[in-house]
Amino acid sequence: EMTDLGELLHQISERFEMITKDKNIGFNKDIPMHPLYVDMDKDKMTQVFDNIVSNAVKYSPDGGQITIQVITRAKAIDIEVTDEGVGIPKDSQPKVFDRFYRVDKARARNLGGTGLGLAIAKELVESHDGYISIDSEWQKGTTVSVTLPYSVHEKAGVSE
Ligand code: ATP
Ligand code: MG
Repeated sequence: EMTDLGELLHQISERFEMITKDKNIGFNKDIPMHPLYVDMDKDKMTQVFDNIVSNAVKYSPDGGQITIQVITRAKAIDIEVTDEGVGIPKDSQPKVFDRFYRVDKARARNLGGTGLGLAIAKELVESHDGYISIDSEWQKGTTVSVTLPYSVHEKAGVSE
């Protein structure tokens, strides 16, 4: 169904701002103000961005900044979530989309979770004919990018 992606991202960001108050994370949003109608399953895409943003929070230090940026292109829309957290070593980056893979097993155990989040996110994004990728620098931070098919001219319920 046609869903306003900007509104969805604002809702997710606001929810995480509330539940992570203690960590003093700063949420920066670079999201167009006008509606961005994207053909998607809203619940599934919510699950995708919930996982990406929860990872960004989980692997950020107190007071870290998280940026959610939307870039519209001719036929696609990019959503980038960037954090200033622990980062991921280069050789581990391709593996984070594998089921149950976690970079640091001891730390992962303390932080909870199963290591399935990104594997599920990849499956859901690909089922929307999109891509997901990760770019990270160890000890500096991480950017997760999701690209979805998009047409600027699409309006709610009407696509050309
Ligand atoms: P779950 O999502 O099931 O709760 P998880 O968060 O550990 O568990 P994934 O979301 O699949 O699992 O992420 C896999 C691994 O990738 C994580 O355990 C972590 O090591 C690494 N990772 C993911 N996102 C980040 C990030 N933003 N910064 C640093 N490491 C990350
Ligand atoms: Mg996760």
